[in-house]
Amino acid sequence: MSGNSNNNNNECDFTFKVVIVGDQTVGKTSLLLRFIDNVFIAENVTTNGANMKSRVVAVGKKKSVQLNIMDTCGQELFRTVSRSIYHNADAVIVVYDQGNEKSFNNVQFWLREVDHYSNNPRCHKIIVGNKTDSKLVVTTDTGRAYATGLGFQFFDTSAKENSNVDTLFTAVAQGVGQKVHPTEDWNKVRVSRADSREGSSSGLNSSGGAQSANRKKTSGLCALV
Ligand code: GDP
Ligand code: MG
Repeated sequence: MSGNSNNNNNECDFTFKVVIVGDQTVGKTSLLLRFIDNVFIAENVTTNGANMKSRVVAVGKKKSVQLNIMDTCGQELFRTVSRSIYHNADAVIVVYDQGNEKSFNNVQFWLREVDHYSNNPRCHKIIVGNKTDSKLVVTTDTGRAYATGLGFQFFDTSAKENSNVDTLFTAVAQGVGQKVHPTEDWNKVRVSRADSREGSSSGLNSSGGAQSANRKKTSGLCALV
């Protein structure tokens, strides 16, 4: 079920499934690694199959949300991303490389994929122009105008320089939260290194894998163990 509320004491209050798509080499895996582990790897970090990593962020002082983030890990090369990845997705982040016009033109393709294969009409969509540290071919204004014209949020990021990455995932948590649990105060979402944990990874799990994870409470926040 998307936008899960978890009532069990040993779990986070909420679990959101987030999917990152976009052309190969735009920096999807790098954004994920930056957010989860605060690292940047200069080489291509392609791995086989699909992968999930999780991080818990605070919603005020007492509540927390676990973001289960799915990465396509190379399947996007031939645009053969498993359709099940979109199943029950609460949010989809479509990434392009601001230095690669083709990847920007293909954003439309990825958005169509989401429309076709997502079973969640309230799926929150965000467009990201990554690699702001490099030479820009597609201007930030162009990317933003495109996204806002479609009614989606836009962020320009650099996984390399850690620019806007936490802001992006904060917006993801807030955007989904406001849609699925509007009574919570989602302005209180705080992403800080203090509540970051070791990212956990697992093989592709089309439901986001949230239900099978073992968790423990750490400083009031749940953590994967
Ligand atoms: P993916 O195929 O979309 O998952 O892209 P990767 O995360 O594997 O990144 C592809 C290449 O772009 C790698 O060489 C990364 O080091 C590089 N890269 C990723 N993000 C950035 C960024 O923000 N700035 C720069 N300059 N390079 C980046
Ligand atoms: Mg990748």
